[in-house]
Amino acid sequence: MSWRAVKVCRALQRRKAVKRIENGDCIFCRIARGEIPCRKVYEDGEVLAFHDINPVAPVHFMLIPKLHLASLLEAEEGHAALLGRMLLLASKLAKDQDWTRVFVP
Ligand SMILES: [Zn+2]
Repeated sequence: MSWRAVKVCRALQRRKAVKRIENGDCIFCRIARGEIPCRKVYEDGEVLAFHDINPVAPVHFMLIPKLHLASLLEAEEGHAALLGRMLLLASKLAKDQDWTRVFVP
């Protein structure tokens, strides 16, 4: 998840009216379900990578889990394999696009 994605989730969490972000309201879950279009970089059963709509680098994509996690603060021991896989996948996808820097929030 990019820093921008984390900032969006944190902003949503701060809203008084939304105590907990539910799958139906989460923009990233809606992108993962195909309800909001994106330019896909990679997809499998657990994760989706897509180009940022406002890139700030020549290669700028976001990698999200299809499982709803509003932030890393919600991550638990059971998410370890998924999160580790995402880190390795971020590196592979960046290399595939000839990019040598990866930012993880
Ligand atoms: Zn979500």
